[in-house]
Amino acid sequence: MANDTARFQAIIAHCKEYGFIFPSSEIYDGLSAVYDYGQYGSELKKNIRDYWWKSMTQLQDNIVGIDAAIFMHPTTWKASGHVDNFSDPMIDNKDSNKRYRVDHLIEAFADELEKAGKKDESSALLAELDRLTAASDFAGLKSLIETNRIKCAVSGTSNWTDIRQFNLMFSTKMGSVSGEDEAAEIYLRPETAQGIFVNFLNVQKTGRLKIPFGIAQVGKAFRNEIIARQFIFRMREFEQMEMQFFIRPGTEAEWYNHWKEARMNWHLSLGIPQEKYRFHDHVKLAHYAIAACDIEYEFPIGFKEVEGIHSRGDFDLTNHQTYSRKKLQYFDNEINQNYVPYVIETSIGLDRTILMVLSQAYTEEDLSTPEKADSRVVLKFPPALAPIKLAVFPLLKKDGLPEIAKELMQGCRGAFRCFYEEKDAIGKRYRRMDAIGTPFCVTIDHQTKEDQTVTIRYRDSMKQERVHIDQVKSIVENGIAL
Ligand code: ATP
Repeated sequence: MANDTARFQAIIAHCKEYGFIFPSSEIYDGLSAVYDYGQYGSELKKNIRDYWWKSMTQLQDNIVGIDAAIFMHPTTWKASGHVDNFSDPMIDNKDSNKRYRVDHLIEAFADELEKAGKKDESSALLAELDRLTAASDFAGLKSLIETNRIKCAVSGTSNWTDIRQFNLMFSTKMGSVSGEDEAAEIYLRPETAQGIFVNFLNVQKTGRLKIPFGIAQVGKAFRNEIIARQFIFRMREFEQMEMQFFIRPGTEAEWYNHWKEARMNWHLSLGIPQEKYRFHDHVKLAHYAIAACDIEYEFPIGFKEVEGIHSRGDFDLTNHQTYSRKKLQYFDNEINQNYVPYVIETSIGLDRTILMVLSQAYTEEDLSTPEKADSRVVLKFPPALAPIKLAVFPLLKKDGLPEIAKELMQGCRGAFRCFYEEKDAIGKRYRRMDAIGTPFCVTIDHQTKEDQTVTIRYRDSMKQERVHIDQVKSIVENGIAL
């Protein structure tokens, strides 16, 4: 399933219908490429964020976490190269006024060629795109668009402007806005990494950290993305989970390979099979990189980047040293030397990870029997990531059953997230829990009053069994361990 638009649309609709993800400010018709997480989406997001944080800090000997501000001194972005380099080549269609990222426009056309069975032409086009992009040959890219007669999806014409660079950072004013001159222009950070670099010495000194060590951070980032039709895959406000690992120069190849492997293992630990992932090594390196690769996941819209792993050398710390005129060096007493450490970065989008987990979990099942047509939609999340872990249902709203159910809920809710419901037939209640991915449901019935047993029902197998009510908490606790 290389590109399954229907499945992608079904996931988007499901997310909205079941309280995972809504378009931002929807009552005003939404805001392009900005989304809000609802009651279940925010739980899922928190669980994924916590899982990453735990794996990258608590379970590591030498990685600590920080939480830097979104606003940073404007010179940060000069030093990082974002003011000069954080731009994409864009082209506008003169008839529709629609703006496209040049690589996306050509890649979409290559996709069409492939679908039409012209595989060789498609590969040749992509190779030419890589070559011209690596050479920053804008005139060549424009003539590639023209000779292939690539059209605008809105106007249907090939009436293109020249290609120009377009900076992706959002800016605002800080200070007195009425006196525009006095107010400094500042940026909303386009990545969280720089908050780590500018705090490198603060953290190293106060934590008495010895190289190799890492600093992790989770937080919002903002990019004025041009292509904005891919749900939470590409947003203008999103969240990143980044870790910068500071190392002795000369050890970068070893640590780059270490983090490539460690991060792929983290992905596999989500229960997603190896064949759904692949590495994509960068041919054209970003302005800061010695080596770089992406971990790609096969979304319903094809294989796409979820995480980047970059060997950044001493680019960031050296530049911050130059611009701030403050030494950002480390004294390595094992070799008796001062140096600017090299950095290996792992950078994963939280929202993209959510989309990956949702894409993997979303399952439509046909449960029809010869007698009756039936189906269900179930989100087969790893139980540890599920928004709700246990749903508790009294069979009836009387005979003391709700009281027993609420007592069970009371005993469990301190340990994990529970949900209580007494309306509708049990079958319907199960299906609603399937749709939000709840791994365990428990039903209290009249027999519970006699022998303290309940029916526990498992989401994926739909198997039901009777267990003692005192066992429920430990069954769920064992089941949600990752
Ligand atoms: P892309 O090529 O898709 O624009 P990128 O290579 O610019 O991504 P990085 O700068 O390496 O991305 O950012 C690291 C991670 O942050 C990405 O792997 C992705 O998961 C996430 N990310 C980047 N841009 C966005 C966005 N606009 N919306 C959601 N997540 C994003």
